[in-house]
Amino acid sequence: MSYLTEILEPTDKNIEKAGKLLLSGEVVGIPTETVYGLAADATNPNAVSKIFIAKGRPQDNPLIVHIADISDIEKYAHDIPVIAYRLAEKFWPGPLTMVLPKNDIIPLTTSGGLDTVGLRFPSNIIARKIIKSAGRPLAAPSANISGKPSTTSAKHVFDDMNGKIPAIVDGGTCTVGVESTVISFDGDNVIVLRPGYISREDLLTVAENVIIDKGVTSELSPDTVAASPGMKYKHYSPKANIVIVDGEYSDFLNFFEKNYSDGVYAMIFGNETDIFPYPHLTYGETDAQQASELFEKLREADEIGATTVYVRCPSKDGIGLAVYNRLIRAAGFEVITL
Ligand code: AMP
Ligand code: MG
Repeated sequence: MSYLTEILEPTDKNIEKAGKLLLSGEVVGIPTETVYGLAADATNPNAVSKIFIAKGRPQDNPLIVHIADISDIEKYAHDIPVIAYRLAEKFWPGPLTMVLPKNDIIPLTTSGGLDTVGLRFPSNIIARKIIKSAGRPLAAPSANISGKPSTTSAKHVFDDMNGKIPAIVDGGTCTVGVESTVISFDGDNVIVLRPGYISREDLLTVAENVIIDKGVTSELSPDTVAASPGMKYKHYSPKANIVIVDGEYSDFLNFFEKNYSDGVYAMIFGNETDIFPYPHLTYGETDAQQASELFEKLREADEIGATTVYVRCPSKDGIGLAVYNRLIRAAGFEVITL
């Protein structure tokens, strides 16, 4: 089925329209504070399967379920540890997803066959209004074609989803720019399955032990069972070959000089643009700015016809870990250390 994809301004009338589409089992592109989501009624396996088809997403990769009230956590999950409530109190609404044992109302289509569900209460007001209008929890993965960079504007969603979904609600550019922090629990320990804007350091203000799963920063061997199915897949990749180059600015410049040819670009930090003498993109100075610009710049690399992009390596602390985690996947784990 092909749709005439509408881009809707977030008026009350259009939010009601989005809610009705969702309730009737359709898929709608929605803004959140992290990235745009491809939303459907999380309790309706038919609707949810349309998300997998539109994205070309592997069916064992579970979808995050978005709620609009902290108390809804008990509708969709059980055996919730005390630490989860404490984290929800501190970080919800916001870009934190908690993996918990799922209730039967969440179908296996949504959970990718797992007996757990990732729950998130987003802070974006438009997202929350749409969830309330639909009157259902919304399963919403990032609104990109599987494998491509995530979408941080309605235009990105349109570029990937035109004709595949009936509507996109335009909430402007996403502020955070990388997907939510995904955590699970092992007793009182918090395990980070995917880093995001809520950093390990933030989580440590509530939890005593925060462990970064090894799949966050390294490639899992084919015989390892991934703690989070999303870790197994190549992700966030533009057509251009992305290579991370880890080293000081002067070494990076030397390296680039030797490797520069037609179609080769650098991706450097925002404050280096005036001094770097070769074709380049920039992606912010602070880790938060890098997070918010990363996907836009990876998409831009394709628009300008880059064949290879050598990227300055971000920091691996704080929000930088989220940026690094997305970049190493975009780079197919290719990192050159100078
Ligand atoms: P996306 O929907 O594109 O933001 O990706 C969601 C990420 O959360 C993927 O990496 C999933 O594997 C992960 N995730 C969602 N639900 C679960 C779950 N129940 N258990 C483990 N990981 C999950
Ligand atoms: Mg995604």
